[in-house]
Amino acid sequence: MLDKKFFKEKINTEIEKLQVKIDELKEATKPIAPDVAIGRISRMDAINNKSVNEAALRTAEIKMTKLEMASNKVDDPKFGICIRCGQAIPEGRLMIMPESIKCVNCAQR
Ligand SMILES: [Zn+2]
Repeated sequence: MLDKKFFKEKINTEIEKLQVKIDELKEATKPIAPDVAIGRISRMDAINNKSVNEAALRTAEIKMTKLEMASNKVDDPKFGICIRCGQAIPEGRLMIMPESIKCVNCAQR
C-alpha cells in the first residue's frame, strides 16, 4: 500500500520548489528593456536566454498543473493506479514523478 501521507508531503514539497522556479523564470522572461546598456552580443545572449527560459517556464507550468492535480487526487483511492491499464504504478515511479497517472508501459504508448 502506498503511504499517502508521505506522498502528499512529497507533492507539496515539489509544488513549493516548482513555484520558486516558476517565479525565477517569470523574472527571467520579463521583457528586455531596449535602453539597457548592454552590448549587442550580450543583448543577443539575453534574447536567446529569454526564449530558453520561456520554454522552461511553459514546461514548469504544465508540471505545476499536473502536480496540483496529483495533490488533489492523492486521497482518491485511484491515486497511484494507472488510468489506462488499472495496474498500480510502481512507488519508485511515483517518487520521481508524483504527478504520474500512467504506469511506465502505458506512458510509453
Ligand atoms: Zn498502465
